[in-house]
Amino acid sequence: MAMTAGSTPRDFFQASAAGAADHELRRKLENASARHLAHFAEVRGEFTPYEDERTAARAIKQEAIGRLDELLIDLTKRLEAHGCKVFFAANAAEAREHIVKLAQTSGAKRIVKGKSMTTEEIGLNPALEAAGMEVLETDLGEYIVQLRREPPSHIITPAIHLSKEDIGNLFREKFGIPYTPEPDELTAEARERLRESFLHADLGITGVNFAIAETGTLVVVENEGNGRMCSTLPDVFVAVMGIEKVIPKLADLPHFLEILGRTATGQKLTTYTNFIQGPRAADDLDGPRDMHVVILDNGRSAMLADPVLREALMCIRCGACLNVCPVYRHIGGHAYRSPYPGPIGSIISPNLVGSAAAHLPFASTLCGACKDVCPVKIDIPRILLHLRWKETSGPTPPEWPAAARRARAGARRFARMARHPRTMRILSRIAAAILKPVAHDGWIRRMPPPFGNWTKLRDFPRPRPRGRRAVKRQDAEG
Ligand code: SF4
Repeated sequence: MAMTAGSTPRDFFQASAAGAADHELRRKLENASARHLAHFAEVRGEFTPYEDERTAARAIKQEAIGRLDELLIDLTKRLEAHGCKVFFAANAAEAREHIVKLAQTSGAKRIVKGKSMTTEEIGLNPALEAAGMEVLETDLGEYIVQLRREPPSHIITPAIHLSKEDIGNLFREKFGIPYTPEPDELTAEARERLRESFLHADLGITGVNFAIAETGTLVVVENEGNGRMCSTLPDVFVAVMGIEKVIPKLADLPHFLEILGRTATGQKLTTYTNFIQGPRAADDLDGPRDMHVVILDNGRSAMLADPVLREALMCIRCGACLNVCPVYRHIGGHAYRSPYPGPIGSIISPNLVGSAAAHLPFASTLCGACKDVCPVKIDIPRILLHLRWKETSGPTPPEWPAAARRARAGARRFARMARHPRTMRILSRIAAAILKPVAHDGWIRRMPPPFGNWTKLRDFPRPRPRGRRAVKRQDAEG
């Protein structure tokens, strides 16, 4: 599957229906999300200052977003003073072309990459490959999805849609080794192959988690040491970051490190925290001879100009909102057809990928679990509603597929009915009586027509009639 930057509402409907019908995919997503949430609950529970750190991190991000222009100027000056070459890219094409040209002028043939959603956003790998270079993803999850020629399906766990058995089969097929589903053996196999590639790479590329304006330091957090290898072993190193990654001071960083590892992977701290400050100095033992920083706008300034949307620029890409999202957990990341799936992806994709993702803000139940879990307390449901309003009140409202139009018409009828509590109570009593014989353990597995579509993919809770006293009290009030 090639990474497609956006799709139509029809594509999304088809892909999400296919994802939801894939019971095996849902089982893998449920397992992975449940494991993650259990680890998160554990590390959060034992860290009492967690809420204070969230508040502090949010305040820092708010300040940074408010002073973005000034901080970016400071950051650039300091990076240049350290010997880095800084390039501001207005859009994805500019960033891609600049990096391809850098690779060509440095004579690079083999490129190693650390994990970077920003490079997924700009479609960097296909551009480098089209220019005749060999590009190798070195994060284990990214390496696995690259072997399958498919995009990541989660911003932190790119291969979340695969089981260890899937990966065992993949390695057997690609490397001709005996099948094993053992994670330790699979990791050792990948590590062995990747190590060779690091030693022979001409150019390394990584993303950036935080860029400190005060010191001109880029911070890359990771768990496998591959980010460190990509940024130190090849002669040329390119860091790619969105404009929103800048934070004011070095002293701000610990607040983010305290929350990022916990929400992203359920760890107290990620294993490697790399501080990168420029190319190798004359007396350094290692490091790149040439270092470039590409700072990308690609729709972020437009987000900044929108008073509601700008809050999304505070995202630290921890991926926690994906893990709790009932829609993401049902349909999987590939259905979004965007490098950024899930709740935060539904907000930023229309801005970073363009109008081809404008339908994504509608792919949410607005349950609010994403807002509760977000380490920087982004009010995701509010922003989704804002984007829906913008989309439907714009000059060209979206063309919905027939199924969506029927669902919207049904929702409107329900909304009209829900304004009459007495009618609702009578109808719910009738529904409870009719559905009682088909309910098992409080759930209905197959609804009668015309509601059968609902239970094709999910169970329906058995409606329960309210107690007579509650009904009487409500009648008196209403
Ligand atoms: S919106 Fe919040 S929870 Fe979602 S990825 Fe960004 S920081 Fe994490």
